[in-house]
Amino acid sequence: MKKVLFATLALAATSAALAEYPEKPVTIIVPFAAGGPTDKVARDLAEALRGPLKATIVIENVGGAGGTLGAAKVAKAAPDGYTLLLHHIGMATSPALYRNLSFKPVEDFEYLGLINEVPMTIIGKPGLPANNWAELQKWLKDNQGKVNLAHAGLGAASHLCGLLFQQSLKMQMTTVPYKGTGPAMTDLMGGQVDVMCDQTTNTTAQIASGKVKAYAVTTLKPLSTPALAKLPTLDASGLKGFNVSIWHGLYAPKGTPKAVTDKVNAALKTALKDPGFIKREEDLGAVVVTDARVNPAEHKKFVSDEIAKWTPVIKAAGQYAD
Ligand code: ASP
Repeated sequence: MKKVLFATLALAATSAALAEYPEKPVTIIVPFAAGGPTDKVARDLAEALRGPLKATIVIENVGGAGGTLGAAKVAKAAPDGYTLLLHHIGMATSPALYRNLSFKPVEDFEYLGLINEVPMTIIGKPGLPANNWAELQKWLKDNQGKVNLAHAGLGAASHLCGLLFQQSLKMQMTTVPYKGTGPAMTDLMGGQVDVMCDQTTNTTAQIASGKVKAYAVTTLKPLSTPALAKLPTLDASGLKGFNVSIWHGLYAPKGTPKAVTDKVNAALKTALKDPGFIKREEDLGAVVVTDARVNPAEHKKFVSDEIAKWTPVIKAAGQYAD
């Protein structure tokens, strides 16, 4: 009798807590350094999400190991809705890259919805003598063995893109890992590294202001963003079939109550319709996903499909880490 009473009281307390969620700040973990593209998307989204979620949102940067450290931290966090993860294509590429990944991207998270799709760009340090794609190709060939390519660690989008770039050119570059392409961009602008492939959300402003050189976009179609519209696609520039576009999604630790994930999903749907957020994304070459894709089941299926798509490509490249 006592037991039943306790169980009933406990259930009532949990329901009350859920009904009140969120009653304290919600932390979104960005698995890369501050100042980079994932961080930028997260901070812009936090602006739009704060109102619909009725919560203060705190961004915590946990960079390193291509995003896997931050993702692992969220996988192990309390499943109460107060620790979320905003991650990109690395959710789908890390299982093939890490032999001892400490989390399972599909099984260890509640999926909250996709956010956007972002193209990437091939950029170079300001002092690089090449002024267009043809000149870059020649410069890369002439400097074989000496070229440095920056990226954000195995599992990062810049790593995946850089890997495919080297493969397509049949060229090996010295790769320099950072905790995110925010700090990598600082070094590229300072001339410490030569080239990088990074999201337009990080490169558009630097290209527009001439702080880096831009050579090509990684999507099959050219982009319409003014600073990027003149850039050729790699596909049409001799690297036939080159096509990398990355995406971001929002996750909670596995076991987060459905009442909570439903609230976050509904708030995310509203946030992604915020005209200010949509405009900020458009200005940076990104596209906010349609309402139907801000859906946990659709999001989960999409990530599973992406894992199936990228695993053989990465395995064929023979890249892995322990
Ligand atoms: N753009 C980075 C990447 O290569 C990550 C970041 O710093 O946001 O995945």
